[in-house]
Amino acid sequence: MVCGQVFDIQRFCVHDGPGIRTTVFLKGCPLRCTWCHNPESQRIKSEMFFSPEVCIDCRACEKVCPQSSARRILNDRNLRRKHCEDCLRCAGACPSGAIERIGIELSVEEVLAEVDKDQIFFNESGGGMTLSGGEPLAQPAFCTALVKEAYRRGIHTCIQTCGDAKLDDYLNVLPYTHMILWDIKDTDPQRFTDHTGADLKRMLNNLRALDAEGARIVLRLLLIKDVNLTESHIENLINLYKRLENVLHVEIIPYHPLGQAKSHRLAHHDGTPAYQAPSRSMLQQVASTLEARGIPCVVL
Ligand code: SF4
Ligand code: SF4
Repeated sequence: MVCGQVFDIQRFCVHDGPGIRTTVFLKGCPLRCTWCHNPESQRIKSEMFFSPEVCIDCRACEKVCPQSSARRILNDRNLRRKHCEDCLRCAGACPSGAIERIGIELSVEEVLAEVDKDQIFFNESGGGMTLSGGEPLAQPAFCTALVKEAYRRGIHTCIQTCGDAKLDDYLNVLPYTHMILWDIKDTDPQRFTDHTGADLKRMLNNLRALDAEGARIVLRLLLIKDVNLTESHIENLINLYKRLENVLHVEIIPYHPLGQAKSHRLAHHDGTPAYQAPSRSMLQQVASTLEARGIPCVVL
């Protein structure tokens, strides 16, 4: 039985591929984007959100903590990094929701039992299951088993990827993946590395290889004011699109500061800078530029 770490399953999603979808969020990501929307997805292992404002001072966590000092540890990020064993006993004991477990091991069968609940909506809307994260292919065996079984059950499958997985792992999932939602975080090599810790060339090589294999790809363009919302980035994107054969369309996505609040509640995250979201008119302007060059696109 193939199992993996999942940190959320969201039903009725409408921006993660065609139709109404159930999005399964897998833990683990090779990138460390400074604007990450889901910082709790980065590490594969289970961890905790701690929200002190919800603590009711009941001390239940103290009783189960092998360090006997759960609250002191939880309240101090450095102590937490140093002493917390990530045993998550405190999360199970906390009655108020101040300690929230992030990540649970589920089997393929358990995930698909949840996904199967919405088959009727998938059929009516042309939707299905989307694997997101994190990077779904950070858990390649689990990701492959999930799409393979969903495909066998007749469920439309999408994988949302950052593009930084092994090419062989992409090729393994491709026969069972109806669509790939491919994040284009930047097209400037230095800026890409500065903001993600990864290599643009590797991402582009994977993208071109998958395109050559006939993958049906949607390019997802996350735009952040004063970072990658530049004329040269849009021009690079246009040139990239023109050299690919199988891109269906481009989705323009505004930065959202959601990750900032989340990162404060994690021990193993240093916080995210305060970026600015672009205005709707800025995004529409990008969409007009792309459309004028013959590129179908949508602003999400
Ligand atoms: S997860 Fe950390 S703080 Fe919580 S009980 Fe275990 S060691 Fe203590
Ligand atoms: S168990 Fe939860 S509510 Fe109780 S003291 Fe610990 S963190 Fe606070």
